[in-house]
Amino acid sequence: MGGKMRRRVIVLGAGGSIGRQTLDVIRQSMVSTEALELAGFSVHSNREIPMQLKNEFPQAKGAWTGDMASAPEGMSWGGPQALSRLLSETEADIVVNGIAGAAGLSASILALRNKMSLALANKESIVMGYRLLKELAEKNHCVIVPVDSEHAGLFQLIQRVGRSIITELTITASGGPFRTLPLERLSSMSADDACKHPVWKMGRKISIDSATMANKGLELIEASRLFDMPQAHIRVLIHPQSYVHAMVRTVDGALYAQISKPDMRLPIHAALYWPDTMPAAFGFADIAGKSLEFHEPRKARYPLLWIARQALDEGEAACIAYNAANEVAVGYFDKGNIKFTQIADVVLKTLEKGWNLPVGSFEDIFDIDTKARKIAADIVEYT
Ligand code: NAD
Ligand code: MG
Repeated sequence: MGGKMRRRVIVLGAGGSIGRQTLDVIRQSMVSTEALELAGFSVHSNREIPMQLKNEFPQAKGAWTGDMASAPEGMSWGGPQALSRLLSETEADIVVNGIAGAAGLSASILALRNKMSLALANKESIVMGYRLLKELAEKNHCVIVPVDSEHAGLFQLIQRVGRSIITELTITASGGPFRTLPLERLSSMSADDACKHPVWKMGRKISIDSATMANKGLELIEASRLFDMPQAHIRVLIHPQSYVHAMVRTVDGALYAQISKPDMRLPIHAALYWPDTMPAAFGFADIAGKSLEFHEPRKARYPLLWIARQALDEGEAACIAYNAANEVAVGYFDKGNIKFTQIADVVLKTLEKGWNLPVGSFEDIFDIDTKARKIAADIVEYT
């Protein structure tokens, strides 16, 4: 996609946090570079967004992927084939995948099969199937550009510094809303408490994952896969100010940091224009007078980070199981059926079942995902 003047964009999950911020980046381009154009979008549950987008972007085609009984009017497609039709019948250069959870993997596969590059916010796609997605992208001459802020930061740093001299990657974490809460109070925290994130305004699943740091566990796997780095060379540091998103250490002992305002529109902007670097209208980080802190996370507070390292050691299937079990456990927690601290117990017990399984195809991935979900649900229901 490099060098092309105008990029046609499809936004998946347009009603969500990433989706709405992507639309903002496109709106901004319309008053500045005119380089981005909304070609299509998918909506799953937000019924107001389609009407608003139809008025604002009349040329864009919409797919409703949610329940057909509540489908809004004026969408080009609806029902089980809606996503696949949107992606095969809309001409576009890049797809922003802002779908939440494992459901995003099918969308990533469809986008690449239709020869469109991916700006990938859906980290579950990377955790579950990056090796196969990358093969598919290469076959179809597409690229996968990370949108997750830490990985977008690493992506930029690695290109600028040069991969061959980098010895260590660091991703930062805000520490979530319970960073300083006395440990004995963790088990009484509700899902609404977990969703009061100190820095980012995000969807419920990722907000709960930020409180447990399963989000950082997924990001550790994501970084290892994207940048082909053994986990022993990837550090996680708690940085409550969320200004530094990523750092790389080079052989000569220097540490390079990527610093920007905590605003997801910045990594989305960077991914949509990549490999070009274009002026952005979302402000910049002014660190004068700011004290930036960095701390090692503690295992007693964030066990899911250590469990992710265990999954990485075990292999690809274990990482798929980690993601699946966590998604199931978070679902139960969000409904008030298990305690905050039990999320980690469910994931750990699921991983203990043993996941030394081959991953040769996307079918294998979906099978392992289904199996792990069932085991995790059984652990909650029967123990
Ligand atoms: P969100 O809950 O705000 O939005 C998710 C969107 O996906 C919604 O529009 C929802 O309707 C849609 N969706 C849910 N299930 C679907 C399905 N089965 N099929 C099609 N669409 C479906 O979540 P979000 O915070 O925007 O996160 C989206 C993804 O981006 C996640 O993978 C998350 O980890 C990642 N991410 C988000 C942020 C952020 O700041 N929000 C940052 C980094 C990464
Ligand atoms: Mg992130």
